[in-house]
Amino acid sequence: MHGHNGLDHKSMLDLYKSFVLPVLTYGIEIFTPNSTLIKQLDLFQRKTIKQILSLPNNAADPCVLILTGLLPIEALYHLKILNFFNNICGQKESSIERQIVVRQLSVKSGKSSSWINCVLPLLVKYDLGDVDDYLQNPLNKSQWRLKVHKTVVNYWKEYIDRIARTYSSLKYMNIQYSPGKFHPLIQVGCSSALEVTRLPTRFRLLTGTYVLQVNRCRFNQYAISAVCPNCKVEDETVEHFLLHCSALEQVRAPVMCRIWNLLESMDLTKQVTSPALLAQTLIDWSIIVPNHPSYRDKMLMLEFHIRRLFFHLHTTRYRLYKELSGN
Ligand SMILES: [Zn+2]
Repeated sequence: MHGHNGLDHKSMLDLYKSFVLPVLTYGIEIFTPNSTLIKQLDLFQRKTIKQILSLPNNAADPCVLILTGLLPIEALYHLKILNFFNNICGQKESSIERQIVVRQLSVKSGKSSSWINCVLPLLVKYDLGDVDDYLQNPLNKSQWRLKVHKTVVNYWKEYIDRIARTYSSLKYMNIQYSPGKFHPLIQVGCSSALEVTRLPTRFRLLTGTYVLQVNRCRFNQYAISAVCPNCKVEDETVEHFLLHCSALEQVRAPVMCRIWNLLESMDLTKQVTSPALLAQTLIDWSIIVPNHPSYRDKMLMLEFHIRRLFFHLHTTRYRLYKELSGN
């Protein structure tokens, strides 16, 4: 998708946010789509982001939001419809929209499909108070952000944080969801077109979708062995692939040395006390590296070397594997 001269993931995500998302959700607050359509729009968003990040379709859905800081389409819809409602409340008594809302409130039953009946359940869901309060005292922009925007965004942050913890594939990833912000690893752009080609391996290892022998064995218990085909010493787990496989040691050692030196220069090596923690640090260093501007240059270097390491491990593993199956 990115090609040798393609855009990097960060630029593509910025393009998605600026040009695709506004079209996807255009007018959503007026025509009030049903839940099936919302699910379809959300599916489109997830598939598009997974394609941009070169992730397979089976990647855990919450990782799409955690990596990009995007809100689910349902949350965007709620924000837009509540925002539109507040705008109507702020209009003069003589405005047609306001008169329609007041009329719908007075004559429509709770079961009708009128527009206001899409707003009322949301005021209850997010515990935002009474509809009459908004009609009498509409919020200005800063009050709106402080009350409604914050409440809706926090609701979804808690929801995503909760469900992300249930995905074992995300066990190495920093799953802290910050709506509106890229994940620290996504914030690091690409310094060259060559680096773009290293991203698929990097993101697959980050999201637990890089397929190793243990994953293949899980689905073909009798036909496929979990043992590493290259060194034949132990099961090919993430830790084995990144840290222990002797067949990959030649490509691993020099890059690992650079990575370790960088961690040492940030005084972080004392936190990496076990192979599991080292694997976790390699896959998502944002777990231990403080998100501070003074670390910025070192973070960029660290991510550069980790992308390099993962890519070289991947290509060497694949080459050895092909040589073996050729024999
Ligand atoms: Zn091995």
